[in-house]
Amino acid sequence: MADFGGDLELEDFRKEAAAWLDANFPKALAGKGHLAMAERSSPGADLTAWKAAIGAKGWATPTWPTQYGGGGLSAQKARVLAQEMGKAGAFNPLMFGMGVTMIGPTILDYGTDAQKAKHIPPIVRGDVQWCVGYSEPNAGSDLASLQTKAVDNGDGWSITGQKTWTSGAQYSEWCGLLVRTDPSAKKHDGISFMLVDMHQPGVETRPIALIAGASPFCETFFTDAVAPRDALLGQLNVGWTVGKRLLQHERASQTGAPMGGRSVPLSQIAKRYVAIDADGRIEDQDLRSRVVRHEMDARTHGLTLARVMAESKEANGATNGASVLKNSATHVAQTRAELTLEIMGGQGLGWEGDDFTRDEIETVRGWLSGKAMSIYGGSSEIQNNIISKRILGLPDNTQSS
Ligand SMILES: Cc1cc2nc3c(=O)[nH]c(=O)nc-3n(C[C@H](O)[C@H](O)[C@H](O)COP(=O)(O)OP(=O)(O)OC[C@H]3O[C@@H](n4cnc5c(N)ncnc54)[C@H](O)[C@@H]3O)c2cc1C
Repeated sequence: MADFGGDLELEDFRKEAAAWLDANFPKALAGKGHLAMAERSSPGADLTAWKAAIGAKGWATPTWPTQYGGGGLSAQKARVLAQEMGKAGAFNPLMFGMGVTMIGPTILDYGTDAQKAKHIPPIVRGDVQWCVGYSEPNAGSDLASLQTKAVDNGDGWSITGQKTWTSGAQYSEWCGLLVRTDPSAKKHDGISFMLVDMHQPGVETRPIALIAGASPFCETFFTDAVAPRDALLGQLNVGWTVGKRLLQHERASQTGAPMGGRSVPLSQIAKRYVAIDADGRIEDQDLRSRVVRHEMDARTHGLTLARVMAESKEANGATNGASVLKNSATHVAQTRAELTLEIMGGQGLGWEGDDFTRDEIETVRGWLSGKAMSIYGGSSEIQNNIISKRILGLPDNTQSS
């Protein structure tokens, strides 16, 4: 009976979600999540309205506590919401921000009540932008070698050092920063995690242009930047544990987990660009079999992701298993980008101008920026190391004694 009751409750919620989406999601944005988000730095009226509506409802952060403005939904209801968003062609406009995907969940895991009350509501509403300051010129995969230091100045912290590849730093109000607070400790032990205000004289950002045309990330310089004592997230010198947790949240957000929106099947795109046989299939057998193999991989990935999410105690699947799914999502996305370009032929190489549709221009830019998927959030090789050590329990031969 209990299960039956649960199903009824979910079905009621499904109707509630569908009705709310019908009333609040601008129909003009249906199925255009990626195009709309590409323009999010200068959003149109529809995107602005959608962001405000979903932020006020708390459904961009569906499982976060209502106390801080989140949706307060169970993992099951959040999945129903994602399904209904998919049906409506809706997308989560805050899912691209690091506040929602990484910093917010980590503050909920490790923050004090005061830190949660201060930082979570603006993230839920999409009012603030966060960046993540981990990588340095000499600390990428070997992140624990980081050298940016925070020194106790009596009132709080004085921070000096350089970060790099800091996504969105030039637009961010806040930064989740890994700093060295005890240079005498072993490298993993002397690190702390701080919540740092980016709008202050000691912080300078220099955007770096990316091959896809935009400047999505920066070199970020801290010169005697300050942070109050309560900027510390988690305990002093235990920042490595906090930092690893954030990375699990990051990887979980990169598994292709449903956030609404849907992508057009490649076989459908192909019908506009390549020869089709009498049965409506792609005529070129080699291309056809590669498209089918990709669609099978994509479906297998989607089903595995759905199973893992259903079995996971974590509402967002932030576990070591996220490393498997991140690698598989990367493979599926990069293969899709390659095949789409191949199918579009010359039209898939347009950079700008009236000879190309918006979809075609986005395709080539997406193909280029998608190369970064196997690097950020920890490279594919680093995910393989995590899978081998922490999931398969294989011996670690990479550390010197
Ligand atoms: C688009 C983009 C956005 C990013 N955003 C951010 C951000 O917001 N904040 C931030 O802090 N960082 C960010 N990064 C940085 C990213 O986390 C690092 O690039 C990544 O961790 C790899 O570090 P690295 O570039 O120094 O490469 P390296 O660590 O120098 O690696 C070079 C190569 O060696 C391989 N390698 C290294 N060590 C091992 C090992 N032990 N075993 C096997 N192979 C190994 C790597 O897989 C890689 O192929 C971003 C990167 C990109 C591309």
